[in-house]
Amino acid sequence: MEVKIEEQAGFCFGVISAINLVEKELENTDKIYCLGDIVHNNMEVDRLANLGLEVVDLERMKELKDTKIVIRAHGEPPSTYELAKKNGLEVIDATCPIVLRLQENVRKAYQEIQKTGGKIIIFGKKGHAEVVGLVGQTNGEACVISNLEDLDNLDCSIPLHIFSQTTMNAGEYKNICKEIEIRLERLCNSGKNQLIITDSICRKVSSRTSQLIEFADTVDMILFVSGKHSSNGMYLYSLCKKHKERTYFISSKDDIKKEWFENCNSVGISGATSTPMWLMEEIAQYVSK
Ligand code: SF4
Repeated sequence: MEVKIEEQAGFCFGVISAINLVEKELENTDKIYCLGDIVHNNMEVDRLANLGLEVVDLERMKELKDTKIVIRAHGEPPSTYELAKKNGLEVIDATCPIVLRLQENVRKAYQEIQKTGGKIIIFGKKGHAEVVGLVGQTNGEACVISNLEDLDNLDCSIPLHIFSQTTMNAGEYKNICKEIEIRLERLCNSGKNQLIITDSICRKVSSRTSQLIEFADTVDMILFVSGKHSSNGMYLYSLCKKHKERTYFISSKDDIKKEWFENCNSVGISGATSTPMWLMEEIAQYVSK
């Protein structure tokens, strides 16, 4: 039976460089702290915990003094940096450069739109670390929209500038922007002039959709490897499942069932942007036996 791993699957460069940074730090020290899981994958989090990385939440961070804390690829709002400074914490900043640039753009757009009485909108998941970091660039004033229903609470009579969380679905973002335009036009004929749309979805994420579908077409069955809490993983899995019925969601080799392999000559292994390559390789080896 042929077993192959999708070449583009696995960590994005933002997560790879965050993990490299952590591993390098842990070569010289026994323990460092990380604000939140460095990646939405329990097995990778456990591997790094064994090397000395302890995950803390914001409440626990408030108690830390004079130690090192990692800010992960999702980024953080300015208040987190202020807290670190107050507590004498050394920040190991692993914010992805794409997220950093987006934070800067949101900050500048906020300063501009304030002059006109307008509002910044973030299309993203409420409470997601990246979204919290982006809202923090606007003094907490940006409005977070997660779906079309949320638009009912949006004041469309003022100038608006919309950004997207980097990992959102491009099609859904397009629909949201279109709907805002329709509502603006209903209120005033020059609706489009009232809305600025910034395309801030990460290309690494948006290009995964078509790559995965193409890969799925080359095999009989897909084993999709992801943590259950990865939104990117759940999205890519359901997309692949719709396209190829014989797609199975697994978090480790223990989830694999023998009956899936009946009349199967080729297996493709893929995963989310938070799935480590070592885990997919381990599964490929297990399936090949
Ligand atoms: S998905 Fe894109 S923006 Fe997000 S961490 Fe990865 S490379 Fe950076």
